[in-house]
Parts: sequence; structure tokens; C-alpha cells
Amino acid sequence: MSEVEHAPRVVQVRCAFCLTPNRVDLARAAQRPRCGKCQKPMLLDRPIKVDDEDFGDTVVGSEAPVLVDFHADWCQPCKILAPMVDEIAARNVGRLLVAKVDTDRAVRTAEAYGIRSVPTLMLFMNGEEAGRTIGIMPDEIRALVERAVG
Ligand SMILES: [Zn+2]
Repeated sequence: MSEVEHAPRVVQVRCAFCLTPNRVDLARAAQRPRCGKCQKPMLLDRPIKVDDEDFGDTVVGSEAPVLVDFHADWCQPCKILAPMVDEIAARNVGRLLVAKVDTDRAVRTAEAYGIRSVPTLMLFMNGEEAGRTIGIMPDEIRALVERAVG
């Protein structure tokens, strides 16, 4: 293992059960970290929900790359894309955080990043946009993930 793989990758994610924000080191994801409040496992192998309130802390403030799925409930292509996004999260535990943003709820965030259609996937590295794909574009999405974890 290289030094890079041992480097801490601290992210703030909300517990899926009690919604308490937890700071988690993704480099230790294999040790199955638990929520500091309710002690239930932090679900790092699936996309986490982020809204206007925690986008800054969770996505912009992340030490790990974050892939953000901007989606909406009424959007059929978003539903088609969802299993691919789930799989990206499951395959890249500890290396990449996958977040989902409902653009009808997180209006401020969607506007701030100029999201004009959904689904839009955006990759953030060190708090800045490192690329985006619009629509169902499997090859482009794979390339985006490669950029983050390759
Ligand atoms: Zn909890």
C-alpha cells in the first residue's frame, strides 16, 4: 500500500438513522465506523443525502473526492441512472463519497452550481468542481469516477 492510501480522508456525513452529522475517516471505512450518537453503522457503501444545509460541510469540505448526483423525484432518467450511482458508491467505499442532492429541495445549491437539467453528476475534488456529466452518459460517468479514484 502506498502512503496515499493511508492518508486520512475525513468527510462529514449524516447518520442515515438519526441524521446526526458525523466526521468519518473514509480511509478507515473497512473498520465499519458507527454513529457517535446512536451507534448504528455509518452507511458508506451507498449514496448519502445532502441538502443546502450540509452541502458545504459534506461536499465542499470533504478531504475525499465526492460525486454528487443532482436529481429530482419526478425525473425518470434520474431513476434509470440511480442503480449505476448506487453501484459506484458500493464499489468505491473508502475512496469516493457519493452524495445525492434533490434539486427541488436544495434549490440554493442547485442554483449555485448552475444545475439546469437533471440528472447532472458533478465531481468535486478539494472543494472544487472537477467535472460534470448531464443525462445518462455511462462512458462519461465512468471517466469521471476514474478521474476521482483512478
Ligand atoms: Zn446516528
